[in-house]
Amino acid sequence: MPSFFGLPHQAPHERVLIAADAESGLRTMIAVHSTARGPAFGGCRLWAYENDLAAHHDALRLSQGMSMKNALAGLPFGGGKAVIVKPKGEFDRAKLFAAFARAVDSLQGAYITAEDVGTTTADMRGVQALTKYVSGIPREGAFGGDPSPKTAWGVFVSIEAGAKTVLGRSDLQGLKVAIQGLGAVGWHLAEFLHKAGAKLVVADIDPAKTAKAQAQFGAEVVTVEQILAAPCDVLAPCALGASLNATSIPTLQAKLICGAANNQLALAHDGDELAKRGITYLPDYLVNAGGIISVAREYRGEGEEGAVMAEVSRIAERVNELLVRIKTSGRTPAAEADAWAQSLLVKP
Ligand code: NAD
Repeated sequence: MPSFFGLPHQAPHERVLIAADAESGLRTMIAVHSTARGPAFGGCRLWAYENDLAAHHDALRLSQGMSMKNALAGLPFGGGKAVIVKPKGEFDRAKLFAAFARAVDSLQGAYITAEDVGTTTADMRGVQALTKYVSGIPREGAFGGDPSPKTAWGVFVSIEAGAKTVLGRSDLQGLKVAIQGLGAVGWHLAEFLHKAGAKLVVADIDPAKTAKAQAQFGAEVVTVEQILAAPCDVLAPCALGASLNATSIPTLQAKLICGAANNQLALAHDGDELAKRGITYLPDYLVNAGGIISVAREYRGEGEEGAVMAEVSRIAERVNELLVRIKTSGRTPAAEADAWAQSLLVKP
């Protein structure tokens, strides 16, 4: 049966809350895709969507991805995601997130929120004042806060695993990695890669970030139009979704794709197109689970830096397992990861 909104996977969403608040200008969609494994856990995105339909579509896609991500990461949580349509012009951020917190609280724990693109630890602190269903909050003398370094670490260990199996590399010395987007995750990833001896090619819509990467890591800077097709061994999409599509795929030069951005494939079929070109795509929701592993441990009160990093490092084992599975199944990595994750959408 074709899914609602032409989404890539079949399982329908359990529920979607659309909430508005005239005083703060809040327009939010909270999508609970699956609670089969536990409460739906996933961040909140603040974005200047063209219209409510675009926001709705994003929430549906992102929440589905969270179900797959949490399942593959072995977390006792389902998949959910919230989006807030960024109000036009000036707005009171504290009031906006207070209204969002009330919407989250109304779901009585079916959905737990945290940071995502456009939202900050300060926003989540504000949310915490009005609901307990929130994570990703820095605490004095205790584990917690910004999940992006953990996400970057998960992507880094996945690049290491992929480079070994797919590119036959024993280390990352001299490996050329193109990073699209030097935001919270992209920047940390650049740091890890630089430390490991990789050569970087970078692009961001913010020239200050690329200039800093050039100065700090000796990175080659290209335009946002050039980055996907830049000559490189590995492409790491770390900006927004749908970067791997019918236009970009024929131009790609990387042999391995491994990045943090959610929903990198514009359409499920794009996974097949990548495979046809001999490009190994490590699915986003497999490799970018470091952040949710971190905020999930924080939420359960099991946060401790060493334990979290060890759990995030185990993402590399799952990358290795995926690369073994595709040899026997003959599926693409995207199709194999989908099937693997779907099989885990049950109570752990
Ligand atoms: P961010 O907003 O901090 O960074 C995004 C960066 O991409 C910004 O520097 C922005 O200027 C840049 N950018 C935007 N459009 C671009 C384009 N066309 N070309 C090049 N650069 C562009 O976000 P983030 O937290 O670093 O997250 C990056 C991606 O990873 C998002 O898709 C997010 O959903 C995903 N992700 C993040 C986390 C996390 O822990 N933060 C976890 C899982 C997945």
